[in-house]
Amino acid sequence: MALTEGYQMNNGLTIPKLGFGTFQAQDQECKQAILWALEAGYRHIDTAQGYKNEEDVGEAVKESAVPREEIFITTKLDNKEHGYDKTKKAIEESLRKLDTPYIDLMLIHWPNPIHFRDNWKQANAESWKAMEEAVAIGKIKTLGVSNFLPHHLDALLETANIKPAVNQILLNPSEMQPETVKYNNEHNIINAAYSPLGTGKIFEIDELSDLAEKYDRSIAQLVLRWSLQHAFLPLPKTVTKERVWENAAIFDFDIEEVDMQRIDGLAGRAGSAKDPDTVPF
Ligand code: NAP
Repeated sequence: MALTEGYQMNNGLTIPKLGFGTFQAQDQECKQAILWALEAGYRHIDTAQGYKNEEDVGEAVKESAVPREEIFITTKLDNKEHGYDKTKKAIEESLRKLDTPYIDLMLIHWPNPIHFRDNWKQANAESWKAMEEAVAIGKIKTLGVSNFLPHHLDALLETANIKPAVNQILLNPSEMQPETVKYNNEHNIINAAYSPLGTGKIFEIDELSDLAEKYDRSIAQLVLRWSLQHAFLPLPKTVTKERVWENAAIFDFDIEEVDMQRIDGLAGRAGSAKDPDTVPF
């Protein structure tokens, strides 16, 4: 497997198997990290309207030596922008900030934001309609969701004409969300793994050092490889130059099944996913 290799999505398009996270990175720091990532061979950048860095992503993509069509950009609809009209405007805003004619993948960031708690189903259905219209005119290539549990997906599928291709959820050795992963697999939806390093908390799990040593790899490499071997799509974030390369060197070793199971057994050791129906945002 190579860094540019991808998973085929349920619409026939391909998504690179490793993405580059940008949450909590902004301005020059974010831009520089993306430039390093593109230089290291990453071809998939994960941003969101809520990260306030779509402009940085757009600038880095333009400044890099890599043609736009070789880069896969994911962005996410902000929690305040649900509903048909707001979503239509928000898509235009993302296109403007990213300075690109199309978005590769657009996700509804959270299924049940606080502003829409009374009518989240309808708000999602309306947003989806606006997103489907953007697909029809080539402004978005692929649609997906994030933080959706099975009941949110069931509700969306009642009215969706285009099926979501990706569900981006928190997935790492501490939180494997088995029910949602199973649902996604059964519906041909890719499991994209956000916070694959537990936003840094994964390094506190002692057992991982011994296992990493066994494979002569870092903990980050071990955990990202574990994610790939589960057929997840990990999205590690770093703004540190060496780590950009380190996190990409995960395609030339295999974790034995017995060690995969050991890592699976670390559930709950470094935090867990938020309940999307009660998040305070
Ligand atoms: P993460 O990738 O799990 O961990 C990032 C943290 O680990 C940073 O503190 C980083 O530090 C550190 N780190 C990275 N590589 C390392 C290495 N090789 N050795 C030691 N430390 C390392 O965290 P995340 O940002 O929560 O999640 C990743 C991406 O998923 C986000 O950036 C975002 O794109 C996406 N995400 C999506 C959602 C959603 O709701 N859909 C939510 C959260 C995140 P430095 O940066 O200082 O190097």
